[in-house]
Amino acid sequence: MNQEESQALFEGDSWRNRAVCPIDTIYGVGYRIKARVLPYLIGFVYLVPTSDSKWIMIDSGCGDDDSSADVESGFRIIREEYDHSFKPETISHLCLTHAHVDHAGGVCEFKRQTNAIVAVHAFESRLVESYDEVARVENCRYAHFLLESGVPPESVEAVLDGFGFRPGRLHSATVDATLYGGEKIGPLQTVYLPGHSSGHLAFLCGNAIFSGDLLLSKTLSQIWPARMTPQTGLLNYVHSLLKLKTIALRYEELHGRKLTAFPAHEEPIFDVPARVDKALRGLERRNARLLNLFREETSPMTLWEILPKMYWSGRPNREFFALSDIGSRVEFFLQLNLLRVVDSERLSYSNPAIRYRLSLANTEATKNSIKQVVGMCLTSDQPDLI
Ligand SMILES: [Zn+2]
Ligand SMILES: [Zn+2]
Repeated sequence: MNQEESQALFEGDSWRNRAVCPIDTIYGVGYRIKARVLPYLIGFVYLVPTSDSKWIMIDSGCGDDDSSADVESGFRIIREEYDHSFKPETISHLCLTHAHVDHAGGVCEFKRQTNAIVAVHAFESRLVESYDEVARVENCRYAHFLLESGVPPESVEAVLDGFGFRPGRLHSATVDATLYGGEKIGPLQTVYLPGHSSGHLAFLCGNAIFSGDLLLSKTLSQIWPARMTPQTGLLNYVHSLLKLKTIALRYEELHGRKLTAFPAHEEPIFDVPARVDKALRGLERRNARLLNLFREETSPMTLWEILPKMYWSGRPNREFFALSDIGSRVEFFLQLNLLRVVDSERLSYSNPAIRYRLSLANTEATKNSIKQVVGMCLTSDQPDLI
């Protein structure tokens, strides 16, 4: 199957209904298995062949009955329709792009079925091994973030529930291989691309890159304030997008064909540089909309007050995600001195809600796009040493 045939397979609507799709890689045919990874979210688990007739599984679904049943049914379809020699025991590695529940929740179950080596970035390994401990600690921090965002104290519990990062939600599993980026696992090369999460990895496999949640084909990925989760935030996220674009451009220059990205949700991306540029434009548009809101509103606003103005069609129980998105943009504007905190002398532990207004002091910085700031701060040249 060449790239055109592979691309044709995913075009139109037929791909959406396919439980299993073959994927063309230069190392052989891999598979994409569709699974309901959260009650409201479809995602994919990938299988990549290795040279010694084994398989590498990328991500594991959320571990609830529906999600694992979808993955197991995918295994059956592969064996019955595509590759009679396939069986779960031939999966040698279970590699995670990151440890969000829709990717890592099934690790315990599929490690039991396959006895595979579980590999994850160092910064996500604690979440895989000690989910309950991390969930308890982080929920306390997130509760403070919500109070600071102006969420009424009586609504904090409900908003946190919508996020669903609750102790007991998934079974922890032992991590066998800790990754940092740059490792080789069979045909895969790990690439550290933080931003959507602190230890987010993509797996490069010749002409394919399994890109997790970093870049989706239609919607913008979820971003979080860096002060909530280290190595996330708008700047780290955009830095990783630009890194992915550079990898794709270098691949095309070297091989004369495009690199295809297979995200963990939504369709494959056949033109990665164009999709990165479009995502960047989308991020800038949202930033511009938020700045405009501040320009139009005469009274200072909390994140909770911004929320219905930014996301008037937001789905119920999604407030935490929307507040995190707004919070990451406000954090960026604060870093650039575009916003001011109003009445800061009133802030206290019992009254932590922060109200922001536009700062008129720094008009120069409003001209800088996120991409420019990333260029200036994260990829600036080495200093001249005297
Ligand atoms: Zn994620
Ligand atoms: Zn995801």
